Amino acid sequence: MRTIGVIAGERVTVGVVEGNRLTGEIRRSQPPPDLPVEQYYQQLRGEIAEVGAGGEIEAIGVGVPGIVRGGIIEESPNVHRLKGLNLGAALSVDFPSTSILILNDADAVAAGIAATRGELGKIIRVWTLGTGVGFGRYPRLDGVWEAGHCVVTLDPKERFCGCSGVGHLEGILGHRAMRRRFMDLEPDEIFEQAKTGDERCRNFANLWHRALAAATASSIHLSGPGKFYLTGPSAKFVETALLEVFLQEMVKMSPLQGSYFEVTPTPDEIAIVGAAVNVGAGA
Ligand SMILES: [Zn+2]
Repeated sequence: MRTIGVIAGERVTVGVVEGNRLTGEIRRSQPPPDLPVEQYYQQLRGEIAEVGAGGEIEAIGVGVPGIVRGGIIEESPNVHRLKGLNLGAALSVDFPSTSILILNDADAVAAGIAATRGELGKIIRVWTLGTGVGFGRYPRLDGVWEAGHCVVTLDPKERFCGCSGVGHLEGILGHRAMRRRFMDLEPDEIFEQAKTGDERCRNFANLWHRALAAATASSIHLSGPGKFYLTGPSAKFVETALLEVFLQEMVKMSPLQGSYFEVTPTPDEIAIVGAAVNVGAGA
C-alpha cells in the first residue's frame, strides 16, 4: 500500500510511506506566516501531488496541530490560520478514491514511534514538547485529547498558554510560554542557569518538571500506567530522574504504579510514517 504521510503546521513535510517505511526523500517547506489559508491549502495539495507522482496513491494521512474532528480542524491555538479548515473534504475533492485521514500531529508522532520501534502491538503515549505541548496516543482514539492544555496549577497568575487558558501545562512547558515568562532569557539559557544553581531558573525548572509529572499523573489516573515518550525540541531539557521522583509523589495507588519515561528524538520521518500508519489502520 502506497500512502502519503504529511505533517502540516507552521512547516509542511511530506513523504511516501510503504510498509511502515519512508521511501524516497522528504519534501519540506515553510509557507510564509501571512499566507492565507486558501493558498496554504493549495500549496499543500501541490506538494502532496508532486511527492505522490509516479504511482498510485491509496491513502493520505495528514497530522495537524490542534483539535480535529471529522476532517475539520476545529481549533489550532499555535497555527491560527488552520482553524476552521475542512482539510478532509478539500483533499477528498482533489484526491478522489483515496482514503484520507486528518489527525492530531502528536497522534502521528505516537504511531511513528510505535511503528519504527516495532511496538505497534502496545499502547504508548507521547508528550511533544515544542512551541506548544501535544499529547499523542497509539492506538489512536477518537476524542479531543488536548492534554497539553490540562490544568496543572490553580495559580491565577499562570496565564502564559498559547490558548490563553489559565493554569495550563503548555503555559509552563511551551517554548512560546517560556519566552513570555522570562522576557530576559531564552529557554536554553534558563535550563543552563538552572544547572549552575541560579535560584530563579532552578525554581522554574522544578516547576516545569512538576507540571509535566502532574499532567502525566492525570493521564495515569484516567487511563492507567504505561510508557510515556518525551519528544520535540524541548525534550532536551528533561531530567528523567527528577520527573520520576515527582511522578512517584503524585501516583500512589498500587495498581497505577509502573509507568516510565523515555526521551526520544523524533525526526520528521517518524511523524510522516505515523500519519501514514494511522490512515492505513483506519482505512
Ligand atoms: Zn492552553
